Amino acid sequence: MDEVDIAIVGAGAAGLAAAEVVEASGLSGLLLEARDRLGGRAHTIHSALGPMDLGCAWLHSADKNPLVARVEALGLTIDKTPPPWANIADTPVFSPARRAEFGAAFQALDARIESVAAEEGPDRPVSDLMDAGSRWTPLLNAFSAFYNGAEFDQVSLRDYAAYEDTEVNWRVAEGYGTAIARLAPRGLPTRLDCPVSLVRHDGPRLTLETSHGVVAARAAVICVPTTVLATGALRFLPALPDKLDAAAGLPLGLADKVFLRLDTPDMFPPETQVYSDPLSTATGAYHLRPLGRPMIEVFLGGAHARSLEGEGSGAAAAFAVDGLARVFGEAVRGKVHVIAQTAWAGDPFAGGSYSHALPGHAGARAVLAAPVDQRLFFAGEACSPNFFSTAHGAWMTGQAAGAAAVASLI
Ligand SMILES: Cc1cc2nc3c(=O)[nH]c(=O)nc-3n(C[C@H](O)[C@H](O)[C@H](O)COP(=O)(O)OP(=O)(O)OC[C@H]3O[C@@H](n4cnc5c(N)ncnc54)[C@H](O)[C@@H]3O)c2cc1C
Repeated sequence: MDEVDIAIVGAGAAGLAAAEVVEASGLSGLLLEARDRLGGRAHTIHSALGPMDLGCAWLHSADKNPLVARVEALGLTIDKTPPPWANIADTPVFSPARRAEFGAAFQALDARIESVAAEEGPDRPVSDLMDAGSRWTPLLNAFSAFYNGAEFDQVSLRDYAAYEDTEVNWRVAEGYGTAIARLAPRGLPTRLDCPVSLVRHDGPRLTLETSHGVVAARAAVICVPTTVLATGALRFLPALPDKLDAAAGLPLGLADKVFLRLDTPDMFPPETQVYSDPLSTATGAYHLRPLGRPMIEVFLGGAHARSLEGEGSGAAAAFAVDGLARVFGEAVRGKVHVIAQTAWAGDPFAGGSYSHALPGHAGARAVLAAPVDQRLFFAGEACSPNFFSTAHGAWMTGQAAGAAAVASLI
């Protein structure tokens, strides 16, 4: 049996940050990862057209994001071009006048959320504050599907209001996933293809049951997505019902991507966005020619993305091409080619894209993040109080949990 001071479960952004802290402490550590790669929901794949981020792509709140300096120190390229959602293209169905109307509806909802969140009172779904009769409610829900991975009726108002967004968004030209994987500490033993199924904490040492045998540890940092805890794919003995409840209250919403290669890139303005149907929640958001490359990245979110993913391979891609033809005309069909697509809901080690708190569960992040007996520590994007759902939020919780685990042993 392997014996270490600190075992870290999950090698996404949170787990890698915790691993870095453990390595620097001089204590012995072991990083256990279910996949055959590092990075988790940070994953860049490479194509002749350039890198493609299947998961996180944007350094959100970049002016406060600690990963910006880390990415620069790796020698990678930070691109500061404004995001496409700040540069929506003119289309017949989404004219400047309609965009202004939508912008006003968005701001009005934001103001209502801020004012209600500032008052005492019970948590509620954000949808309680929406004007059901407005023509812009479907697109506001589409925004929520992209931003939260779920429509506003499933989103806690207090949790949503707690998210800190400075609206500065940068990219890593070589891929955010590339950067996260390169931040892995070189000296800490790491075991890939090694899912952990049970953490026993009923004896003097923790024991972690993995597909490659049992690991004993004095402390552990658990950095897996909430779905993995809520479904029991990773269990604890004795059981931790508070953690299970917290994880169930913080499900992973869904965002999927489809990448299209363009034969005639010049017909699409670079670094702009269009919606296939700005009057529907079941719309795609098309990022035209990211970084000027001859491709389009199509973003699908919420129930719509879940239903396309459920229809099986090809449905999201077909929707993406149909939507493009709707905006740019039937002639585009022969000029675009699907080169990659994601299915994060079906991914057994993610089960979705990023966490949102269900209405009434705004307090769940603190419950999930709380240590147990000063030897089980928890990290991951869902544990972040204000940068949840992001890679930098995950990183920061991993650093904090790693430091707490080290402190508990020295
Ligand atoms: C499509 C999409 C777009 C996104 N866009 C952005 C964005 O632009 N900007 C941004 O900041 N964030 C974005 N995110 C969110 C961001 O990717 C995540 O919040 C962040 O990467 C989560 O890191 P984590 O360490 O908490 O979890 P993960 O990255 O999920 O890491 C958890 C690790 O645990 C492993 N694991 C699971 N089960 C077990 C087990 N039983 N035993 C051992 N290991 C296990 C997993 O394989 C995984 O490697 C996006 C995500 C998606 C899917």
